[in-house]
Amino acid sequence: MKKVVKFGGSSLADANQFEKVRDIILADNSRVYVVPSAPGKRFDNDIKITDLLYESYNLAAAGKNFYEPFQIIRDRYNAIIQGLGLKNSLAHEFDNIEEHLLNNPERDYLASRGEYLNGLIMSEYLNFEFIDAKDVIFFNEAGEYDDVKTNSILSARLENIEHAVIPGFYGSDHNGKIKTFSRGGSDITGAIVASAIKAGVYENWTDVSGLLMADPHIVSSPAVISSITYRELRELAYMGASVMHEDAIFPVKKAGIPINIKNTNHPDDPGTWIVRNTARTSKYTITGITGKKDFCSIIIAKDLMHSHTDFYRKVVQCFEESNIPLEHLPSGIDTMTVIVQENKFIECEQKVLGRITQLVEPESLEVESGISLIAVVGRGMKSQSGTAAKIFTALANAHVNVRMIDQGASELNIIVGVRNEDFERAVRSIYHIFVDSGK
Ligand code: ASP
Repeated sequence: MKKVVKFGGSSLADANQFEKVRDIILADNSRVYVVPSAPGKRFDNDIKITDLLYESYNLAAAGKNFYEPFQIIRDRYNAIIQGLGLKNSLAHEFDNIEEHLLNNPERDYLASRGEYLNGLIMSEYLNFEFIDAKDVIFFNEAGEYDDVKTNSILSARLENIEHAVIPGFYGSDHNGKIKTFSRGGSDITGAIVASAIKAGVYENWTDVSGLLMADPHIVSSPAVISSITYRELRELAYMGASVMHEDAIFPVKKAGIPINIKNTNHPDDPGTWIVRNTARTSKYTITGITGKKDFCSIIIAKDLMHSHTDFYRKVVQCFEESNIPLEHLPSGIDTMTVIVQENKFIECEQKVLGRITQLVEPESLEVESGISLIAVVGRGMKSQSGTAAKIFTALANAHVNVRMIDQGASELNIIVGVRNEDFERAVRSIYHIFVDSGK
């Protein structure tokens, strides 16, 4: 069984972190392909190499002097090389990048150098072959990731290579030019490599011991999620939980490869398993809670609404015409509620409301802003009675007024709408009722 191991920026921020990474890789000989990010922050106010590269690019593109940030970048890499006692210097690579900056700077090329240089260092340090991501990861003419071309070239390339380092975050476009994924994109590279070689596991190493059940800014020391399905993760990520790069899920999900989120600083912690499905029940009925503020609800009432079979379609059309995605559509007998993101709605509010009035002639049309949506997610909910009752008991005890409830038929989540000012209190109360009661 082969593992692909991706290390995030904080796991590679200095020589000391590189040493931890090497120990992790050498501790398990199935860890054969390594995907590094660029060096990240060493401490709170530190600057990531990728940000320094973007800054250098911005200055160079404006014809300004870029030496200050560029020198910081050089110094950081040189300190890593020295700290690890490596022989090869990157002086020549820096000259090339500097020349590029002076002549015809390209944003993606510059940004990709953080991973590229870290990949070179890592490959020397581990004595693993270096494979430039530009030769194995491709984007099509539309600028989208080309999975067919990438899979065939990457899997053929890795077939006879036992150990390799493949830098994260970039590939090349149809003209052979460097192109990056969006920020945090090394997660995607790791997933792509894992799926190309049909890895047994994709290990994603970071600086936390797994995904947390709730936002630590809201709930103090939330529990770690030990296992979560891709679908649950999607629900949590969509509603605001910050996990891996969202696009990193698709390649491994398609190939059925489990992801294990691990902590470079505490490698023995089990971390979080992200899997297609699992017979493991989680310790608590819920897997996680997350949420977002600033939604609007538009409540449309009309007597005998259900006898107008085109009612829903017409309402949906009014939002479609203004390109506003619908988040939820909870309904009553003679009312229909549409929940949308406030910032998307407000710009074309009058147009949408005018169209609803014209098309469905409602008896009343109310708008309420400042709504937060909380998603309580858990595969365990469908086999457990009383979950909703527990949520509403928690909210009632915390004196939170519930503005909306939506439970998907899949019973994977329950969405609750509350006022923005009640949001944090509501999340805490739900978390505590499930976690402190141990269920
Ligand atoms: N270095 C890139 C960034 O900072 C990509 C990554 O770390 O995944 O966004």
